[in-house]
Amino acid sequence: MKKLFKILRYVKNYLGYASLNIMFNVLSVIFNIFSLTMIIPFLQLLFDKTKLVYEAPELTLKTESITSYFNYTISKIIIDRGEVNALLFISLLVVVLFLLKNLSRYMAMYFLAPVRNGVVQDIRNDIYKRILILPLAYFSEKRKGDIMSRITNDVMNIEWSIMQSLEMIFREPLTIIVFMITLMFISPSLTLFVIVLLPVTGILIALIGKSLRRTSARSQQQLGIILSIVEETISGLRIIKGFNAIDKTDEKFREQNSRLTTTMIRLFRKRDLASPMSEFLSTLVLVVILWFGGQLVLNDNSSLEPTVFIFYVVVFSQLIVPAKSFTEAYYNVQKGIASVERIHEVIDAKEMITEKPDALVKSDFFKAIEYRNVSFAYEKESVLQHISLIIEKGKMVALVGASGSGKSTMVDLLPRFYDCVSGEIIIDDILVKDIRIDNLRSLMGIVAQETILFNDTIFNNIAFGLENATYKNVVAAAKIANAHEFIQKMSEGYNTNIGDRGVKMSGGQRQRISIARAVLKNPPIMILDEATSALDTESEKLVQEALFKLMKNRTSIVIAHRLSTVQNADEIVVLEKGRIVERGSHENLLAQKGVYKRLIDLQSFKS
Ligand code: ADP
Ligand code: MG
Repeated sequence: MKKLFKILRYVKNYLGYASLNIMFNVLSVIFNIFSLTMIIPFLQLLFDKTKLVYEAPELTLKTESITSYFNYTISKIIIDRGEVNALLFISLLVVVLFLLKNLSRYMAMYFLAPVRNGVVQDIRNDIYKRILILPLAYFSEKRKGDIMSRITNDVMNIEWSIMQSLEMIFREPLTIIVFMITLMFISPSLTLFVIVLLPVTGILIALIGKSLRRTSARSQQQLGIILSIVEETISGLRIIKGFNAIDKTDEKFREQNSRLTTTMIRLFRKRDLASPMSEFLSTLVLVVILWFGGQLVLNDNSSLEPTVFIFYVVVFSQLIVPAKSFTEAYYNVQKGIASVERIHEVIDAKEMITEKPDALVKSDFFKAIEYRNVSFAYEKESVLQHISLIIEKGKMVALVGASGSGKSTMVDLLPRFYDCVSGEIIIDDILVKDIRIDNLRSLMGIVAQETILFNDTIFNNIAFGLENATYKNVVAAAKIANAHEFIQKMSEGYNTNIGDRGVKMSGGQRQRISIARAVLKNPPIMILDEATSALDTESEKLVQEALFKLMKNRTSIVIAHRLSTVQNADEIVVLEKGRIVERGSHENLLAQKGVYKRLIDLQSFKS
């Protein structure tokens, strides 16, 4: 139930609509009861049991007064116009009452629609915002498909199971209570049966509900696995085909898919129990009432009028429908709660990288970046140990070392994609943790090996994240990045849509677009993480040229797999297994005949 309230919290924004919904629901229940009461005068009329009232009673808001006034009206019609007309009058009244009832029901649903959809929209917005805020580390633990499944399948599950049932969860108990009170009024002794039998059915229904929730959780998890496979398959299609793994991948998918089917079948079977079970249980109670109440009627000193008894049975049978839909709604909610839990795992995930409330504004870079005794670990195993390094403004520092030595990790700490485990990173005497995160990140531009382009026009990809980039500026940036020429040759120039992840372009072209993006952002600090390593020699030359232009007059940290490109760095830092093992200029390091020399020798041997 607590989980359900977490979702209901979202309803708070739509209280106006929600209360209108409740109001119309109450109205519809009242009209329903009234239309059913019409059965009494109807039967009385048919069986000639109507007691004629000749004196007009006083009309007040009490039930009795309304009843007797109604009796008087009927009597008057019978006396003045005959019984057939009285019948017509009652029938017309029933039509009007049913019309009002259904009108109220529609109005209730009319006002529920914005609540339902608004809540779902808010949940989706919240998760998406969380995805943007959560640290990168969160996503290396979770599979992408799983998160995607939560934002799509689980939100949909909430919409279909909880929101769909939300109204019933509130309306049906209301109906049930009002009907029960009516029953209580008609015959307290008969109603006692109902009250005794109710908890027994309730417990039975709840037990199945709980097991249903577990199955639902499993099915949502399985959906996540399936989406992960699809996501991985689409991005790895080239490899799957190249390695002739189509059948194997297909088999893997089929296995998971059939597992989902098994779970879903189990889920459906449990959920579908709701309706027949509650109908049977209510019918059971109904038969008990027929049997017992029938005896009361048959007794000579009958304590129960036959017409009243029939009314009782009719009202009770009307209870079966809301009881059934309430059970169904309850089961659907149980199914949805599994998704609520999964969504809250994302929404409630710890932020880890947080901004201090009094974080400092910093819009410029003056002096130096300092790594002071920094250590870091993704999990238990330490990845960086006691890194100390000062990068002065305007200098170019190169990080070199074998793959896995911690170079990328080291630069990821600077924009706070991760926070150091110990030690500090300081920019101009201010701890990075004290700077506003958006300020900190706008101080630096990042060009990485894996180019990230979005399914949008070239213009928007270059101007990404900038509010008011002009065409002139974008072209100027593209020129610096050696990209202008090939962009111009494209069908629609800067307005060409580059497709998902830029698949329509070569690696070198993609990289030059992302360099243009960095140029346009014009940050004082540049981080280049193996920006050319995925490229062939020809495009590497073009990109390298662009990078040199990019680094001019800036402070830069460069990770390069080809050591020849960083020979003129102001300082070369050699990393090995997360430690700095050598540092100095190219000539210096060569003279040391250490790790750097070995790396250089290895490369000249290769090429
Ligand atoms: P480099 O860039 O020098 O090749 P990295 O900084 O990428 O090295 O990686 C350093 C070490 O940290 C490696 O052992 C790698 O396996 C590990 N590592 C990198 N990223 C993650 C991550 N997201 N989660 C866990 N371990 C990671
Ligand atoms: Mg790396």
